[in-house]
Amino acid sequence: MKLSDLGEFGLIERIRARFPAPQRAVGIGDDCAVLPQRDGQESLVSTDMLIEGTHFLRDDITPYQLGWKSAAVNLSDIAAMGGNPTGTLLSLALPVDLTVEWIDAFLDGYAAASAPFDVPLLGGDTTASPDRICINVTVLGEAPSGRGRLRSNAMEGDLICVTGPLGDSAAGLKAILEGVERDADVQALIDRHYLPKPRIKEGLELAANHQVHAMMDISDGIGSDLQHILDASGVGAEIKVDDIPLSLALKRVCKRFGWDPLALAIGGGEDYELLFTCNRYAEMVLTVPHFVIGRITPRQSGPLFPHSGLAPESLGFDHFKKGR
Ligand code: ADP
Ligand code: MG
Repeated sequence: MKLSDLGEFGLIERIRARFPAPQRAVGIGDDCAVLPQRDGQESLVSTDMLIEGTHFLRDDITPYQLGWKSAAVNLSDIAAMGGNPTGTLLSLALPVDLTVEWIDAFLDGYAAASAPFDVPLLGGDTTASPDRICINVTVLGEAPSGRGRLRSNAMEGDLICVTGPLGDSAAGLKAILEGVERDADVQALIDRHYLPKPRIKEGLELAANHQVHAMMDISDGIGSDLQHILDASGVGAEIKVDDIPLSLALKRVCKRFGWDPLALAIGGGEDYELLFTCNRYAEMVLTVPHFVIGRITPRQSGPLFPHSGLAPESLGFDHFKKGR
């Protein structure tokens, strides 16, 4: 059997099954590992790779954008736990023919994404790579004990919410790959793809509310990411597809090129908005901007997006399977 048969999540499950579950910590399966500390705080840790040819094409992304994105997608996992980032580690495997200007611009982007949250760079590793650029970032964070909003916390009757419009990033990527002409709308979508904003402030505010139950960031697409919450919590969901927020730029660009905005919003990843569930009375007084897209139901086996016309395999991204 090949890894493509197993799929990304099958492989992670296979790895998990080989090791004893941690006794006191939250391990594999959430946006961050959570390690209880003695002082009423919890430490958060997460790591993510960006590999040339898989996550980006060297000629399509500027080094500044790559540096920004490397830091931002990791910080987003701390946001998803409702934590405060405390530091990052940056490991680089680089072809030796890259220029010093390239790395300087990369570091400018990395620093710019870290600066709003005062996150120091604590260390890392550096090595040569035969041809491809490989980047690994580890992010550390902290939260008061019990704040971590795990994927397993969703409760029947909860509303399902997202903090912002979906599909922009996937549309930006499509625009890059298809080489479409870049007007202001297309550029806005491309910026959402290359310069995602980690929702740290929103995550902190949401996690401070006890009625916000499960939370994660949308990295693979809501189709697959929401499924993680449902699986972990043992519940089902009813989604109102028409309530999924779409930006004006996405709507206009999709109309122009005949793209399906819903397919991009549901199946496309890398929006890095927060997906959360909360008690419906609490939702009415939430100060964080958000959109209600459905509610948590008892566990069910039917398709999550029955009226979207999307095939199940197009719901979200799996690195070991082909296409979206
Ligand atoms: P995210 O998209 O939030 O970064 P992933 O989908 O990459 O999360 O990973 C899902 C979960 O599986 C996380 O808890 C992550 O720590 C864990 N995981 C992924 N790859 C591995 C691995 N090779 N070994 C152990 N745990 C892993
Ligand atoms: Mg995540």
